[in-house]
Amino acid sequence: MAQVRPDEISAILRKQLSGFDSEIDIYEVGTVLQVGDGIARVYGLSQVMVSELVEFPHQIIGMVLNLEEDSVGCVLFGDSSKIQEGDKVKRTHRLASFPVGDKMIGRVVDPLGQPIDGKGNIDGTEYKPIERKALGVIARQPVKEPLQTGITAVDAMIPIGRGQRELIIGDRQTGKTTVAIDAIINQKYTHSDEAKAVGIEPVFCVYVAIGQKNSTIAQVVAKLQEHGAMEYTTVISAPASSPAPMQYIAPYSGATMGEFFRDSSRHALVVYDDLSKQAVAYRELSLLLKRPPGREAYPGDVFYLHSRLLERASKINDELGGGSLTALPIIETQQGDVSAYIPTNVISITDGQIYLEPNLFNSGVRPAINVGISVSRVGGNAQIKAMKKVAGTLKLDLAQYRELEAFAKFGSDLDKSTQKTLAKGERLVELLKQGQNAPVPVEKQVISIYAGTKGFLESIKVSDIKRFEKELLEYIEINNTDIYEAIKKEKALSDTTTEKINQVLTKFVEKFK
Ligand code: ATP
Ligand code: MG
Repeated sequence: MAQVRPDEISAILRKQLSGFDSEIDIYEVGTVLQVGDGIARVYGLSQVMVSELVEFPHQIIGMVLNLEEDSVGCVLFGDSSKIQEGDKVKRTHRLASFPVGDKMIGRVVDPLGQPIDGKGNIDGTEYKPIERKALGVIARQPVKEPLQTGITAVDAMIPIGRGQRELIIGDRQTGKTTVAIDAIINQKYTHSDEAKAVGIEPVFCVYVAIGQKNSTIAQVVAKLQEHGAMEYTTVISAPASSPAPMQYIAPYSGATMGEFFRDSSRHALVVYDDLSKQAVAYRELSLLLKRPPGREAYPGDVFYLHSRLLERASKINDELGGGSLTALPIIETQQGDVSAYIPTNVISITDGQIYLEPNLFNSGVRPAINVGISVSRVGGNAQIKAMKKVAGTLKLDLAQYRELEAFAKFGSDLDKSTQKTLAKGERLVELLKQGQNAPVPVEKQVISIYAGTKGFLESIKVSDIKRFEKELLEYIEINNTDIYEAIKKEKALSDTTTEKINQVLTKFVEKFK
């Protein structure tokens, strides 16, 4: 994948700024006091705003990050060795911006909106500031529509609603990116005519890659392409090799792109992969700006870094169009330490978290979701009734199983009810295993969970569960599609449908044996 060179970034920003009013006012010109490491301290810009772009000589653009009593600190998007003490610096009155528009869909761009996928220029876009104040409470309404991820364990027990912020957290290589990518892939359904017919509105996706290897990002893009997901997705890439300011601004660019959909009465899903790396880039900049380091050497306002970003996720009220912006931030933990500074911050900002565990991952339980400590505080309201009904006891069953799991090795010495709980739990865990990039539509999820929680799996061997599930879902597809149709249309489980499911399941269990 192509990458914009650091010395080109200033040129790009200048292009965005063309036409800015350059009439000079004495308060609008400052002088460089000190420069080095991509940072400059400037004296005399007493009116400048935080995040405003300023222009240095040699057409180098800087962004103001630090407002101090008699000087401001800027990061430079360009070669700082060209800048000297005493150089003049001009205000531009513009904040860093990102081009939004339907033409951005299907493209891979850098955090300033420049294409890096070699597919040519992007026209017909409009520049919007990357930092915007989040909407107030009056403009919002509670989340009410589901955002199906296609991952059964998530949609059943940690449901996400449109407009919600759900954190994906876990150590490295635990499947964090996969959960987010699967959620994007699953939105393909929302763009189909079939979805339209039952009143499901399309979800547009934005994937923001921060501080990752170029090769990893290329793999993600390839995967999205392979599943036809680039048709409704924009990828914003700030790889590890890009300058720290780019990694710092990337999530805000993503939020701006998401807001474009939200504010035009549409639905957006934005993935920030990951915010730990953004925080590290911000720490680097802050230390260079000589801000006092606090806990874990992060600056004191690192909480605000993420809160102002995630507050922009929202479900807008119907008078304002009813659009939504759902955020899936990702945080990487070290050795499962969720009480480190950045993880606790982001946990407290979001509406819940999906916690992925290396132990589960390595023992083959994938997606490696720890159901015990994963929560979704608002998404339950958005679940369709049918799912809510069948998933009600699932979490409890699994919790009971986890509690007794340690006793499993005593086998037949255990009393009947313990044995039963263990047997059921084992089968449910098996049932919730799911391969990557294989999203399951909600009507099928409902049937699987119904079979698991209502005891239809009791007589099936644990090693046969996945095969049983696959064959069952196919069997219904062929012989009883009306069940799927009913769940899709009614979104609830009527008595007639439940009756039918019971009959089919009983019959199929016999047949399977
Ligand atoms: P990193 O910390 O490197 O960003 P991550 O937590 O984002 O990693 P992934 O890249 O999503 O993890 O997944 C790690 C590996 O596990 C990948 O090779 C992926 O293919 C595999 N994997 C993830 N989920 C599943 C799954 N449900 N079934 C099988 N393999 C999976
Ligand atoms: Mg990842």
